[in-house]
Amino acid sequence: MQRDSVEPQVDAIPGPRGREVVEYHHETAAPSTYVYEFVWDHSAPAIGPFCTDVDGNVLLDFTGHVGAMPLGYNNPKILEPLDEFDLVDPMKIAGQDFYLPATEVLEDMDVPGPADLMDRLTGISSQYGMDTVFLSNTGAEAMENALKISFDYTHGKYTITCEGAFHGRTLGTLSLNRSKEVYRRQFPEIPSVHDIPFCTDRSCSPETCDCGFFFDDTSSLRKMLAKTGYVNGDEVAALVIEPIQGEGGYRFPSDAFMQEIAALTTDHEIPLVVDEVQSGMGRTGEWWASDHYPIKPDVIASAKSARVGATISTEEIFPSEESRLSSTWGAGDIMSAAKGVLTIDAIEEHDLLDNATERGELMKELVNDEDLPGVTDFRGKGLLLAVEFEDKKLRDQVQEEAFNRGFLIMGCGTKTIRLLPPMDVTEREIQLAVELLAESVEAAQ
Ligand code: PLP
Repeated sequence: MQRDSVEPQVDAIPGPRGREVVEYHHETAAPSTYVYEFVWDHSAPAIGPFCTDVDGNVLLDFTGHVGAMPLGYNNPKILEPLDEFDLVDPMKIAGQDFYLPATEVLEDMDVPGPADLMDRLTGISSQYGMDTVFLSNTGAEAMENALKISFDYTHGKYTITCEGAFHGRTLGTLSLNRSKEVYRRQFPEIPSVHDIPFCTDRSCSPETCDCGFFFDDTSSLRKMLAKTGYVNGDEVAALVIEPIQGEGGYRFPSDAFMQEIAALTTDHEIPLVVDEVQSGMGRTGEWWASDHYPIKPDVIASAKSARVGATISTEEIFPSEESRLSSTWGAGDIMSAAKGVLTIDAIEEHDLLDNATERGELMKELVNDEDLPGVTDFRGKGLLLAVEFEDKKLRDQVQEEAFNRGFLIMGCGTKTIRLLPPMDVTEREIQLAVELLAESVEAAQ
């Protein structure tokens, strides 16, 4: 498969082999887990955003595995070093094996390990003075531990979350979710979680805001924390926020909103916990989506692109008491830690932050030039992009039309499609995606 000339080619999708595999999987899989309608073939050709499914269809994948595939399929920048390491098999590491390998210290170690990954993660978070990491496996665990260290540090009892938020599916993180009610319905919750509106207008000011956050010369957060308010600012363990909301519909807040969050968390000394599980690790053209805003996070939760879960903060905020935090598979396995390190190194070495910014701008320009009927907004930072439609029905139809053309895209919120191309996406691939999007919108109309 030649990356610079390949185009999507679809016979039937899902084809007969795809259907068979999905059916086999769901014989034993919990029925309410995600159902993907395509089955990509690991052993068939795949490169960049292109892959082949088990029926031989060639697909252009702009779902990026919901952000967990930052550098596309079979990226040589990851595969070649992994090949060189000549790993016998992806050994699991646990307990005391956490320490090795450590290429930064032992010159005869060639596979980077968890310590190297923590070194890289603090390196890209040093603008916030962060120097300490706890590694886990998933985004939800990264968030759980972000909450735990905040409760431990402040001895607070309240948590503040945002309308439309999604932070994971463990019992703790569920309590912070304010997106689809199906996630939370009837499950027990941690007490004293309060929410504030999340800014839905990226260019709003306190005077023009109509999302309910700013009103009457004040904000709902300021009112909540005021002496006459219903939450004692001294007893808040954390304010938790996705700097750009993911599941809630790829919503980009305004600077004014973020400034108010920063001012109040600073005034009341409330740890600001940012969930960068979907938005972080360079996707927006900066290492963290937070870097675009006038905020200074105290804790960052990362996962997906990092290949493991990571709670990043300062030594001061992390508990020092032994056994307060731990996990058997806390650093994933050697392959995960190595892939996390190689991903960060490749982004740095190949200027992929700049590529994300430039290609994202190009896609915005091209889509705006198309002036697609039924599209009410096209927004994004870097390669975290979203198309919003007039209604859900049109969004779903466009998604299906795109799918039939071999263009894989995913919904979020109620009427939005998110686009997550690999960070090394080329101009040709962006043009191809815009053509396929335009064709799909026209067919859906
Ligand atoms: N936080 C955000 C913003 C997410 O988008 C997700 C997953 O999509 C999570 C947390 C949970 O991550 P995981 O599915 O790895 O537990």
